[in-house]
Amino acid sequence: MRRRCFPVLKENSRIPALLSKISPINIDAISLGLFVFARGTMTKTTKRHETIHYLQWCELGFLGFLVLYPLFWLIRLVQYRDGARAYLEIPFEREAYGHEGDSGYLSSRRSYAWLKYVRTSSNQS
Ligand SMILES: [Zn+2]
Repeated sequence: MRRRCFPVLKENSRIPALLSKISPINIDAISLGLFVFARGTMTKTTKRHETIHYLQWCELGFLGFLVLYPLFWLIRLVQYRDGARAYLEIPFEREAYGHEGDSGYLSSRRSYAWLKYVRTSSNQS
């Protein structure tokens, strides 16, 4: 049986609003290491999206994710010259948005599933 691991959910947090001030997007919820911070209460879809990010953190380690996430965003920014589009093209976000509506995804997800989004953009896969 697969080991299941989940982040610690912190709802009604001020952290998403504070980070939105330095981000190209408006953040409602964010995964930071073991924790997920949300402005209000989280839907099942948001919990699944952020849990996918949590699993990515687990695979890469805290520093690995912190280095790769903005690096992918910068690469996509150069490619698309649009901060919001660059965000949606980050491989971690493509996996999370692509599967946030799939209730069976977390139990069937393969490790490093985000890797398949590294070499393509959303209109190529
Ligand atoms: Zn996300």
